[in-house]
Amino acid sequence: MESLRRSRYTLMSDLAIGGQRLLLHGVTGAMDEVADQVGAFLKDTSLSVEEGVQKYNISQETLRVMEERGYLTKLAEDQERQRVGKYITKLHTLKLENCASFMIVVTYLCNLRCHYCFQKPLVEADGKRLFSDLISVEMVDAAFAAMAQLIKQKRARHNLELFGGEPLLARNRPVVQYIIEQARERNFSVTATSNSTDLHHYEDLLGPGGIEKIQVTIDGAPEMHDKIRIYPSGKGSFESISDNISRALDRGVVINLRINIAKYNIQQLPTIVEHIQQKGWAKYENFAAGLAEVHYIGIQDDRSKELSHLELIDSVAALDAPYFTKKALVRGVFGRHFNYFPGQPPAPKFDTCFCNAMQGHYVFDPYGNVYTCTEDVGFERARVGTYYPGALQFDALRLKGWHERTVANLPDCPSCEYLQVCGGGCARNALLDTGDAWTSYCTDFKAYFQKVLTLLYEDYKSSDGPDPAVLGLSSMVTACKS
Ligand code: SF4
Ligand code: SF4
Repeated sequence: MESLRRSRYTLMSDLAIGGQRLLLHGVTGAMDEVADQVGAFLKDTSLSVEEGVQKYNISQETLRVMEERGYLTKLAEDQERQRVGKYITKLHTLKLENCASFMIVVTYLCNLRCHYCFQKPLVEADGKRLFSDLISVEMVDAAFAAMAQLIKQKRARHNLELFGGEPLLARNRPVVQYIIEQARERNFSVTATSNSTDLHHYEDLLGPGGIEKIQVTIDGAPEMHDKIRIYPSGKGSFESISDNISRALDRGVVINLRINIAKYNIQQLPTIVEHIQQKGWAKYENFAAGLAEVHYIGIQDDRSKELSHLELIDSVAALDAPYFTKKALVRGVFGRHFNYFPGQPPAPKFDTCFCNAMQGHYVFDPYGNVYTCTEDVGFERARVGTYYPGALQFDALRLKGWHERTVANLPDCPSCEYLQVCGGGCARNALLDTGDAWTSYCTDFKAYFQKVLTLLYEDYKSSDGPDPAVLGLSSMVTACKS
């Protein structure tokens, strides 16, 4: 017992309910409910474990279980940190050796003009349109040849995501159809990130065996959306997007609805949920929705309309909305960090790094370039190689820079209890914000996650089993988490 020490990776809910608290271990992934006095014992670092056992009356059996779950350890602080570093690196290497995901940028052109578009500096300069090419059939063939080289698990079904600009413009259909045919031959699934304004031109290509999943974004209730997600003429796009979501759901496409949130539309969330209900989307098993904060980083200096993570969860929790709506929205935020089904214990989602860009994601653009970061495609700073003309070639140093950006290698993360729930923060935003992608980009993550833990614990304790306040809201599995 003398040699036991409190692990530095224990996370605890600030809130105690009915004399109990929620504990989470940031490395082992253990999640437990413990008596408040056990929580107080773990928190009270002014006392040694031995002294704490006396003061808080902790049994030998409790000590044994806490050691088994990782909350107590016999390792010295340095040894624990080193072991965690080795574990994360090994896990990450295994992922890199086994996982690969792919994206094709069909074109950088888009038919909409959202004011916060991260590709704005790329496609517009001095009022002129740049980067307006469509990917060619030869490039598609070269991209598939490159993917074949990068795939390690030959028998696994891989995914190819279509991205833009807007990949599913009506005029892109011939090359998109070619990509889908090539993907089918290779047993790839095909998904897309699409504004879905032209989706009706792809009706026969939607659903199993075609485009199986689409991430679609809305920017608020119809009126607000129509001021933001606009055509060059200034006309809004809500109705066509909404109609096409219904069309795609009917054809069996999995729709991930991304609800963009900033200070100007946070109060509209209940109206958005009402729209989802009125349309009947929530009844489809292939429908899910999640909230995503609008970022202006790299687009404009004025970021006053942005909501931080913490502001988002605080605002959602404070919404004056019906019970059903509020619960559904709060659970939508949990989905980013936990697999959570009301009535069942939550299971935390862990990762060795922040996003797919660090673990085998490759993006092929219509200029023959390869990237890893979805939001930085087209920018020279993020280019890691080329695939056309000629064979796939990487800039080894640049690629290594992405693949090694794990929580084991960032400056502050190896000692942080949030390491595997946070992942070290977005590399692109860290670079644009601080000038160094290798910064541990904490933002307000710790306070935000603590709030999530508290709300989750309240939700878990107050629910007797499955209830209707879920609405299909869940996390969206996307390459980019920024
Ligand atoms: S970025 Fe900050 S909060 Fe996230 S794991 Fe690293 S040190 Fe912890
Ligand atoms: S989360 Fe950040 S680093 Fe990852 S793909 Fe998105 S912008 Fe790039």
